Amino acid sequence: MDKKKIQEGVKLILEGIGENPDREGLLDTPDRIARMYEEIFGGLTQTAEEPLSKTFHVKDNAMVLEKDITFYSTCEHHFMPFYGKAHIAYIPDGKVVGLSKLARTVEVYAKRPQIQEQLTFMPVVFSCRSNCVHRLPMPSWTISLPRERLC
Ligand SMILES: [Zn+2]
Repeated sequence: MDKKKIQEGVKLILEGIGENPDREGLLDTPDRIARMYEEIFGGLTQTAEEPLSKTFHVKDNAMVLEKDITFYSTCEHHFMPFYGKAHIAYIPDGKVVGLSKLARTVEVYAKRPQIQEQLTFMPVVFSCRSNCVHRLPMPSWTISLPRERLC
């Protein structure tokens, strides 16, 4: 991620809204926002390959369900946050993935600018296209409507 470019862009926005970027309270704002973007858009440089690569053998093929995985994401139209809960269910077929890895996968997809509908479908697209589908049956993903959205 190009932090310098983000800092310059934020400075331009501050000037654009008629603020003085050299005002004491705003002096570090471009750097703060650049560091924040590295965090909230960290999913752009990651894939779910890693968290989904480790599986464990099981004898019981009862459905695995992890509910209420909290996610935070950013609307690509307004760069405003939205968040909600993800629920993931799948039939193991002899292999399961660690529960924390499912949450990690949701995080990888959530930490990108996007529309809410995209977040719902991206993990499904990923599990179809990646090698992971050979190691793990395609999960059935559902992501509930965000409880809060600001735009
Ligand atoms: Zn929006």
